[in-house]
Amino acid sequence: MSDVTREAMEYDVVIVGAGPAGLSAAIRLKQLDAELNVVVLEKGSEVGAHILSGAVLDPCGLDALIPDWKEKGAPLTVPVKDDNFYMLGEAGKVRVPNWPMPKLMSNHGNYIVSMGNVCRWMAEQAEALGVEIFPGMACSELVYGENGEVKGVVAGEFGRNPDGREGPGYEPGMELHGKYVFLGEGVRGHLAKEVIAKYDLSAGKQPQKFGIGMKEIWEIDPAKHREGSVTHTMGWPLNSNAGGGSFIYHLENNQVYVGFVVHLNYKNPHLFPYMEFQRFKHHPMVAELLEGGKRVAYGARAITEGGYQSMPKMVAPGVALLGCSVGMVNVPRIKGNHNAMLSGKAAAEAAFDAIKAERAGDELSAYETEVRDGAIGRDLKKVRNVKPMWSKWGLTASLALGGLDMWTNELFGASLFGTLSHGKSDAEATETVYHHKPIDYPKPDGKLSFDRLTNVAFSFTNHEESQPCHLRLLDPSVPIDVNLPKFAEPAQRYCPAGVYEVVEKDGRPQFVINFQNCVHCKTCDIKDPSQNIKWVTPQGGDGPNYPNM
Ligand SMILES: Cc1cc2nc3c(=O)[nH]c(=O)nc-3n(C[C@H](O)[C@H](O)[C@H](O)COP(=O)(O)OP(=O)(O)OC[C@H]3O[C@@H](n4cnc5c(N)ncnc54)[C@H](O)[C@@H]3O)c2cc1C
Repeated sequence: MSDVTREAMEYDVVIVGAGPAGLSAAIRLKQLDAELNVVVLEKGSEVGAHILSGAVLDPCGLDALIPDWKEKGAPLTVPVKDDNFYMLGEAGKVRVPNWPMPKLMSNHGNYIVSMGNVCRWMAEQAEALGVEIFPGMACSELVYGENGEVKGVVAGEFGRNPDGREGPGYEPGMELHGKYVFLGEGVRGHLAKEVIAKYDLSAGKQPQKFGIGMKEIWEIDPAKHREGSVTHTMGWPLNSNAGGGSFIYHLENNQVYVGFVVHLNYKNPHLFPYMEFQRFKHHPMVAELLEGGKRVAYGARAITEGGYQSMPKMVAPGVALLGCSVGMVNVPRIKGNHNAMLSGKAAAEAAFDAIKAERAGDELSAYETEVRDGAIGRDLKKVRNVKPMWSKWGLTASLALGGLDMWTNELFGASLFGTLSHGKSDAEATETVYHHKPIDYPKPDGKLSFDRLTNVAFSFTNHEESQPCHLRLLDPSVPIDVNLPKFAEPAQRYCPAGVYEVVEKDGRPQFVINFQNCVHCKTCDIKDPSQNIKWVTPQGGDGPNYPNM
């Protein structure tokens, strides 16, 4: 904790993050008791600015939270009309029919949405109920109480110089105290990471697994646009090098979300996830769709993939972890928003009961029970072996066996495989250059594919330069002395925003961090093989400004 003195404000519940998890918790608390004081703090310049999930939304979370969402004008206006799945080769494709797929894989009844816009609408609902929402307020530290419980957060500190000292316009921010603090920071939240480590919440659990998801919004030729169409692919350009796949969702106004996920457990340090995504768009199926169109936005974000067996304990004294701070993505469905919403609702209900019973600062164990035994646990348990099968046995075997496993789970509530483990963390999975060859990527053509820096401009990212770098090296010598010879410093390639470079200065290699470009995807914190990069939040309001991702 810092030694700065700050004013404190008291709330019943303090919520970090205006994503689907945090906003659902806020809405549910006020639905249960309009008198509760609830605050939501968001580091983005506005609600939705940091939300990257041009998504197919399963509305079950919203149904449970706001059953009359249609009448209330929720921006779920594009129902899924057709659902396609292809295996790609370099020049061709094979359609995988829908009939052998387990029912849970169907997108019937789901909607293609901008989650940024859904969150903006949820924030309006929350404010109408009396929730205080403060965008542009990054929560930089946790505040602990006398008994070691989490009792609040520090938010809104501005104006430190690059060397960390207080600058001329320094604002210390506030402490916001709550009977309970909810962390809805999304994947690899830095406060959640601190809580998980402090209370050893991952003990006995599998390591969390991740992918890096990159996405572009395209405006395409109206003649090629098919509103409500959903396409997923696997295969090319990834081969046995890495797992992952793509998604192409046709929303309204001739717009299409084109996205690509690379699992971060890849071994070859030369792999360049961003360039795999760019290469993917040159597949004839994708190129034909995009030709004549224009890319209007770009963004990137890590996605949790560990699922059921990787969820840490999610409560500790005074604090609960929500949504993807725990990791609630159903990997084969690529869906986590519904579970994020259900988790916010469940945490709110547990906190409401506790506050009514005059409790504060203890563990909301009823929340944990509801997540593990309720709808979220059931959703994740059925698919728990798909990701480990893919990691162990590759794409083809995992498609066949993963499909069989999902069927047996759906029909009989059991798996022939029990619960498979994930093995190493994604950082540990990276092997040295001695085992792998460099990969030759084609140069972007500037029409379908773009270099990273050009694309980052389309994330509308901005960071005040005169602040400390929020990408902290635990040991500044590691990138050049360890990572460069052993791993060809993979930060140069795994970062989808070109933040990290190795440049030559005075005849010696030097590691450069262009933190201004950071899109807050957290991949560096996850994939650095030396675990030497710590992502902390920059000043509030900084980062990407996604329009309607
Ligand atoms: C490429 C990609 C595609 C996806 N596609 C789908 C899909 O089609 N369907 C689906 O259902 N799911 C999808 N997901 C998963 C989905 O995005 C997540 O499950 C969901 O976003 C989790 O919600 P959350 O509220 O936990 O976190 P988030 O949505 O990440 O929200 C967290 C919020 O907290 C804020 N925050 C974080 N730290 C701080 C801090 N210290 N101080 C203040 N504010 C903070 C962030 O700025 C953000 O606004 C996809 C994910 C990715 C990456």
